[in-house]
Amino acid sequence: MRQEKDQPLLFELSSPGRVAYSLPECDVPELPVEELLPVTYIRKKAAGLPEVSEVDVVRHFTELSRRNQGIDNGFIPLGSCTMKYNPKRNETLARLPGFALIHPYQPEETVQGALELMYNLQTELEEITGMDQVSLQPASGAQGEWAGLLLIRAYHESRGEKRTKVLVPDVSHGTNPASAAVAGYDVITISSNERGGVDLDSLRKEVDCSTAALMLTNPSTLGLFEENIMEIATIVHEAGGLLYYDGANANAILGYTRPGDMGFDVVHLNLHKTFTTPHGGGGPGAGPIGVNKELARFLPTPIVEHRKGRYTLTYDHPESIGKVKGFYGNFGILVRAYAYIRTMGPDGLKQVTENAVLNANYVMRKLQPYFDLPYDQVCMHEFVLSGKAQKKKGARTLDIAKRLLDFGFHPPTIYFPLNVEEAIMIEPTETENIETLHRFIDAMIRIAREVDEDLETVQNAPHSTIVNRLDEVTAARKPVLRYQTPELEYSKL
Ligand SMILES: *Cc1c(COP(=O)(O)O)cnc(C)c1O
Repeated sequence: MRQEKDQPLLFELSSPGRVAYSLPECDVPELPVEELLPVTYIRKKAAGLPEVSEVDVVRHFTELSRRNQGIDNGFIPLGSCTMKYNPKRNETLARLPGFALIHPYQPEETVQGALELMYNLQTELEEITGMDQVSLQPASGAQGEWAGLLLIRAYHESRGEKRTKVLVPDVSHGTNPASAAVAGYDVITISSNERGGVDLDSLRKEVDCSTAALMLTNPSTLGLFEENIMEIATIVHEAGGLLYYDGANANAILGYTRPGDMGFDVVHLNLHKTFTTPHGGGGPGAGPIGVNKELARFLPTPIVEHRKGRYTLTYDHPESIGKVKGFYGNFGILVRAYAYIRTMGPDGLKQVTENAVLNANYVMRKLQPYFDLPYDQVCMHEFVLSGKAQKKKGARTLDIAKRLLDFGFHPPTIYFPLNVEEAIMIEPTETENIETLHRFIDAMIRIAREVDEDLETVQNAPHSTIVNRLDEVTAARKPVLRYQTPELEYSKL
């Protein structure tokens, strides 16, 4: 589907002999390639890569980046998996040579600073979550969930119990049932009540001596705080099950409450959401897990410890579930999270929560007259609207999301959670100021009016972007994942 405005591909810009660098001629003897590489690795024919000049390649990628909707050129009110505040200072700190250029095989005495940072970060996350011990190893929220469930299994097995079920509410993030299934558990869905919380009758019906754990997000993906959390904890614990806390979006609770105080046994955090690593496009993440005393002995190894004035990695933990990630986790992300926590301090983190919750409630109340609000309660860091009234008039939630692009906004999360028809899930985050929130609110109100007055404009949106409405069904059913190299000329090897 090529369009007029299309940028040529690098392959199409290619011309034999062009190179994107210039170096002085080599003044030492060049070794034949056979002496540098095992012969089986030596290529017999050219790789067929584009040959382009430096300015062409820089302009190409700069232009593509300008066409992207990113946090540096606009508001991203995506609910649940939201990128929150990403101070540029953290990027500078993570690139300091002492952090960026160390090697995981370096002797411990040469990386004491890095180990100290990890140790301190663990300690701070223990304080923030109210858990007894934290491991920084998992590389994502989903991996943290999976590792947490392995800990839960190890705990039950150590007591001679084989429990087979993990309970998840119907509004849970998709990774929860997926992680439970990958960890080998039967996944049981618990319904929500009319206030968006866990339905206690449904919970009581499912909890029994085969329940390994209940996985809960609090506040839930509806942005609602679970009012019955203490009772839920009692129900699950009395049956011998454990409580797992999905803390991916902890900007709703920082400094106000802690999963440990709510009775949770295992927690994961997403450092790449709440603690400032930019994410998107599947970039690296960090999903540390925290556990209570009973579970600490099962944590992944190595564990960063402080012994006799030295920081050290310890492997001698016979009951550990073992390693869940190469080396020690995604270290650059740990540096960012640590820098963020230290620069914010306890009061700053508390203010994050205040601003996140205030922003979400402000936008929710301003939009309430124009869209259905299925759960009309005080929300936490995010809230969920329903576009079902607009759908009746001919504009689906997808159309509304596409139309927002014309006003320079990344669309919110849509069609999730599944229990809200035509869901529109909005998280303004703590970062945005009132002017930005007003521009977003105005755009949403304008779209609601257009649905009545100018339906086609909404149905055919976006109009101002480089590509317009994509054929998403064909893209999903018949994806073309690889550029077919045409007959191009290349330089000889
Ligand atoms: C993002 C998110 C996850 C999964 O985290 P990943 O790092 O993407 O694996 C889990 N639960 C909730 C509520 C989330 O928002």
